[in-house]
Amino acid sequence: MSTPQIIDGRAVAASVTDEIAARAARLLEETGKRPGLTVVLVGEDPASQVYVRNKERMATKCGFDSKKHVLPESTAEAELLELVSKLNNDPEVHGILVQLPLPKHIDEGKVLNLIKPEKDVDGFHPINVGLLSAGQTDKALVPCTPAGSILLAKKALGTDLSGKHAVVIGRSNIVGKPVAQLLLQENCTVTIAHSRTKDLPKLVATADILIAAVGRPQMIKASWVKPGATVIDVGINRIPAPEKGEGKTRLVGDVDYQEALNTAGAITPVPGGVGPMTIALLMNNTLTAARRQLGLPDEAELL
Ligand code: NAD
Repeated sequence: MSTPQIIDGRAVAASVTDEIAARAARLLEETGKRPGLTVVLVGEDPASQVYVRNKERMATKCGFDSKKHVLPESTAEAELLELVSKLNNDPEVHGILVQLPLPKHIDEGKVLNLIKPEKDVDGFHPINVGLLSAGQTDKALVPCTPAGSILLAKKALGTDLSGKHAVVIGRSNIVGKPVAQLLLQENCTVTIAHSRTKDLPKLVATADILIAAVGRPQMIKASWVKPGATVIDVGINRIPAPEKGEGKTRLVGDVDYQEALNTAGAITPVPGGVGPMTIALLMNNTLTAARRQLGLPDEAELL
């Protein structure tokens, strides 16, 4: 087997954000408007704080008007709903992102459903979910990690994915289901596997494109992977790494990467694969949201 193509998510994400920055600069020149992204963080979850900081930084780098609201853990649901309503009605705010998870006393669904669909840059509102499954991606805002996964698959295979058998492992609303919808849209034959699927290895062996979104470290073995398949590993799992020193950890995907290098035709590493694409596609959604709210047509597709 020849060496596989390692799909460099950091490089693809950097070229996407360069393109978004150029498009935002053009928008500013033509309309005097900057895309406005407001991120809302409730509580002090350290991982969420890092994600929010990275999103803010990237938005600023793209030339957006980036704002953040940090509310204490004790914030009442009604107070958060009031803030979302205010942002919904603010014409300078084109994209609203409420960082998840929210504290337990707040009903996540209630908050996400209140965000105006046209400002829902995470793509989690039922209207956006419906538009995606109706194939109306020109009107929807599409979830960022799934959209980023498709771009990486196209980086490896070219823009025409039609007729390929795509197997998606995982059926979450955040990754599995929307990525399956996007693959259908690309004319793939799509199979969704999940925790109750029988004989997963046999199914994986039929995949031209394998999308792993399980959240179990190195669960998918190289021996399952069809020779030459394109493997997009969405999983991010922290495991002990005693070789780095006592108490140290490292990140791995859902696929046994080192071994899969001998089988796959192309594969994304973890870290440095799908991860960086999520923020890049959030920037794309914010720009799209801004253009639509300003009555302008969408830009050309990325890649
Ligand atoms: P989730 O826990 O909501 O869903 C996991 C899915 O895996 C479920 O649908 C379940 O049915 C399936 N599953 C569980 N065990 C299985 C098994 N043994 N065999 C087959 N299927 C099984 O997780 P999620 O939110 O979809 O995230 C999945 C992974 O992707 C996680 O590691 C998460 O950290 C990562 N993730 C990464 C990004 C990013 O790169 N930016 C974004 C979101 C999620």
